[in-house]
Amino acid sequence: MAQCETCGNDYDKAFQVKMNGSMHTFDSFECAIHALAPVCDHCGCRVVGHGVEHDGVVYCCAHCAEHAGVTGIRDRA
Ligand SMILES: [Zn+2]
Ligand SMILES: [Zn+2]
Repeated sequence: MAQCETCGNDYDKAFQVKMNGSMHTFDSFECAIHALAPVCDHCGCRVVGHGVEHDGVVYCCAHCAEHAGVTGIRDRA
């Protein structure tokens, strides 16, 4: 049994995610996304796809990056 670190649910099918060298335990992808997914610096949505990164700032898409003044970026598909 493992406990989800987002909602505290005890779930026998909980899974673990290793990120930046530390382990996190969740009962669902929704909880994992809530805890780990970066937030787009422009529109504030959770970046659950590849996203784009520029100077350590994460955007959900090239469109948002452009709006934030980043040029020469493309979606990593
Ligand atoms: Zn949970
Ligand atoms: Zn965005």
